[in-house]
Amino acid sequence: MLGSIEEFYRSVDERVRALERLHAGRLNCRKGCSSCCVDGITVSEVEAENIRSKHLELLENGSPHREGACAFLDSEGACRIYEDRPYVCRTQGLPLRWLEVVEDIAVEYRDICPLNEEGETPLEEIDSDECLTLGEFEGRLAEIEKVRSDGRPRRVPLRGLFVNG
Ligand code: SF4
Repeated sequence: MLGSIEEFYRSVDERVRALERLHAGRLNCRKGCSSCCVDGITVSEVEAENIRSKHLELLENGSPHREGACAFLDSEGACRIYEDRPYVCRTQGLPLRWLEVVEDIAVEYRDICPLNEEGETPLEEIDSDECLTLGEFEGRLAEIEKVRSDGRPRRVPLRGLFVNG
């Protein structure tokens, strides 16, 4: 059972909230901090469609933020589609880990926003299950996308959602 994109976001948010509680002491993420809201983000068609269906007025009559930052930022550095922001935006700021196979060996990589780097426990010493491991949610999103797109998934630039973009 794949579920809807809303259900997918709910399960992402549930996991993210649990990690935010664990790492509250080091997280500086707050409304108005837009360091991770870079320009050029693309989303899957199913996420784009979710934004189109809920923010038609903004997309048809609003103006994108000037180039150099995400088109959906407002003048105060806040997201204009926060409740419906894409998956990639929901996990920013957390300690992230992922595995890559290098010469047949699984190598773990980690990353965190530089603004959240400082904390009681160095990033590399945080328990694995206290990091967000990339892969699982991406896999579920890809499955939802595959079904919705007849097996021909495509990426959509956020800026391109604006009629005036
Ligand atoms: S959609 Fe919102 S949260 Fe995501 S990068 Fe753009 S402004 Fe930031």
